[in-house]
Amino acid sequence: MSYIYIYGKPISMERLGRSIAWRKVNNEKNKSDISKLTYIGERVECPICSCQDKKEFVTIHGATYLECSNCGHLYQKKIVDPEIIKKIYENESEYLAHVCDVYSSRVEMIATPKVEFITQAVQKGKNDLEWFDIGCGACEILSAAKKFGWKVKGVETSDLGLKFGQKLGIPVIQEYLTEDNAPELVKDAHLISIFNVLEHLERPKHTLKNILNAAQNCEYLAVEVPHHPSLSAFCSQLFPDNVARHLIIPEHIHIYTEKSITLLIEECGFEITHCWKFGQDFYELLSTVVELSGHEISILPKQLLEANNEIQAILDKFDFSDAILLVAKRKKD
Ligand SMILES: [Zn+2]
Repeated sequence: MSYIYIYGKPISMERLGRSIAWRKVNNEKNKSDISKLTYIGERVECPICSCQDKKEFVTIHGATYLECSNCGHLYQKKIVDPEIIKKIYENESEYLAHVCDVYSSRVEMIATPKVEFITQAVQKGKNDLEWFDIGCGACEILSAAKKFGWKVKGVETSDLGLKFGQKLGIPVIQEYLTEDNAPELVKDAHLISIFNVLEHLERPKHTLKNILNAAQNCEYLAVEVPHHPSLSAFCSQLFPDNVARHLIIPEHIHIYTEKSITLLIEECGFEITHCWKFGQDFYELLSTVVELSGHEISILPKQLLEANNEIQAILDKFDFSDAILLVAKRKKD
């Protein structure tokens, strides 16, 4: 593939507040969520390439991820009742509290480098073109995009987006983006970003295709999804009772390989120009080991944590990052 790759994204895990206590709370929440799930069926084929050949990757608290033999895509075996999923997403107060606590760190460390990367990749911004963010959460991305000169707009289902949008002067529409409302909502979008959303969708191909077909003026697409293979996923495979992030059931239905996300984007009429791999895998490995030992992160020498970013960049280069961000351009007819 001929697109431009970059690797590594410096991050301070201390400032993000990912303690052992945070891991335990998340793991317990997932365990409790999984125990309440009811199912309406099982996936018989890969949701991206339709291959029926697959193998079990890991079972976490009784729920299984399958790995496609063709494109490597990871997907949950059982289909959760959509009503249950809705209830889980309604309860976002903990996330809100966490986001408020670390808001400026998140914008500075997470959102700004991504927006800068995309703005440089598409060589736009600063000229009033519209950046439309789907699932804009607390507007971290849009708040950064505004600083790079983009005209910004977002859509978000939770109250979170609306609240932060009002505070930051960013127009946020509180709705589910559907086939019916997409033509109106995305009509002025020049760039559409969809970060950490496609892993949650039952029919990602169908949904993204419809949105991009409706977005007639959209030239660029920026997508971020959890990536496979990753060291984080292998930690979860080895210690399925201690999963705090990445393989989150039922929320993360899909974990994308470079092949599966490329197939998805190309089917939507776009071609990838830039690919950035980064993650929190080394920290995930360290914190899993520390958690299993019954200690706290503070037991580790400070120098080891300081080595985090450089070691992670090497993992990213070797294709073991737990996140992938892609920029794509609409194909010419
Ligand atoms: Zn597949």
